[in-house]
Amino acid sequence: MNRLLRILAAATAAGLGLLFATSSGAPFLAAMVAVLAGIIALGLLAAPGGAAPVEEEPAAEGPVQSFLPSTAEVADAVEDPVMIVRDRRVIFANRAAKAVLGDHIVGVDVRLAIRHPAAAERLIGGNGDEVSRTELVGLGDRDRRWEMVLSPLPDGDRLVRLQDRSDAHASEQMRVDFVANASHELRTPLATLIGFAETLQDDEAAGDKATLQRFLKIMEDEARRMQQLVDDLISLSRIEAERFSVPREPVPLLPLVEEVRNSCDRLAEEKNSRIVVEQTNGEPVVPGDRAQLQQLIQNLVVNALKYGKPGADVTVRFEPAGPEMIRMTVIDRGDGIAPEHLPRLTERFYRVDPGRSRSMGGTGLGLAIVKHITQRHRGRLDISSKPGEGSRFAVYLPALSSKSHATVTEVTRSSPRNVPEAD
Ligand code: ADP
Repeated sequence: MNRLLRILAAATAAGLGLLFATSSGAPFLAAMVAVLAGIIALGLLAAPGGAAPVEEEPAAEGPVQSFLPSTAEVADAVEDPVMIVRDRRVIFANRAAKAVLGDHIVGVDVRLAIRHPAAAERLIGGNGDEVSRTELVGLGDRDRRWEMVLSPLPDGDRLVRLQDRSDAHASEQMRVDFVANASHELRTPLATLIGFAETLQDDEAAGDKATLQRFLKIMEDEARRMQQLVDDLISLSRIEAERFSVPREPVPLLPLVEEVRNSCDRLAEEKNSRIVVEQTNGEPVVPGDRAQLQQLIQNLVVNALKYGKPGADVTVRFEPAGPEMIRMTVIDRGDGIAPEHLPRLTERFYRVDPGRSRSMGGTGLGLAIVKHITQRHRGRLDISSKPGEGSRFAVYLPALSSKSHATVTEVTRSSPRNVPEAD
């Protein structure tokens, strides 16, 4: 567009000059005006970007470059600590590096900046032309884990980058702990089984019918405990394997509670407890995985029965939580849980009282399974408890539909007893 305007202006100037020259009566003046117009025309055409053979304007380059941030600004925006080292001295440190290693590090010997024996060895020795990686523990905070990456820069300078590996290390540690815990949990009943099997090979023990029966019962219990543990481990690994696929099957929750109630009938009877269902505001239906949701309810109800007081009822309450969620709360009236245990309850194999849990056939995986199922369903688990009064496990799940008929339905086991208030 600019070029076009210039050409037009040049043509106009030249045209005017010639017109004046030919029409004027004064030949010298006319000649001067024509020369002047020619000069203006040439000037306009020769102006940058004006004449025909001029190359394309580097239009965008200037303004974009002037907006580019400086190297230091870019480095400050990087979350990892980054430094440049020249002749063993830190000549640049970004904001993250100063936050972790201190403000003083620029200008000091790099071994004083990164006070770590493994780092020092790498920073002053090694081949400066190659990228090297070194694991560092305890830099900054005591438990933090880093990977120090050294990369060559021009003129012998080196770029030092610290990558935070604490999370990766924590999950690796969890995996190691999990395998150790699972092996330990399996080894205990296995040792009992082997011990009793050996004893039974002794004729004297096997000859006594009562002793034989007692031993066989113990062996059966231990074998069942192992079976339960293996089942829970398989469930957990399946749920984890599927954690990125959101289940979408419409699942009405009340029939699931009914199934759980039937399967827990014996335990409820032993504890002289009833499972009371309270349902407000319509039938709760969620998009989900039916089998997993049943397991979730089962684990919570079994815990409520196991850890509840004998003779006290367990309540399963359904209610809307906002326009899009359903809250299912399993309420028991047991001893409750001290606050310091609450954040750890969903960890695998975490038990408040391991002896009590084991004596009731617990694997320590029930709540971990509940948490993973809830997460897979894009839900949330809230645990609250008052020691001496009881506990509430609230699971929030996205609702599929709520046929609103605003009722409170109580479904109870056959024995007609008064239902105490849940709150
Ligand atoms: P467990 O098989 O031991 O019951 P869970 O993962 O289901 O394992 O629960 C972990 C621990 O949380 C239990 O060992 C118990 O100490 C505690 N807990 C779970 N539910 C309740 C509850 N309703 N009341 C009191 N404590 C509970």
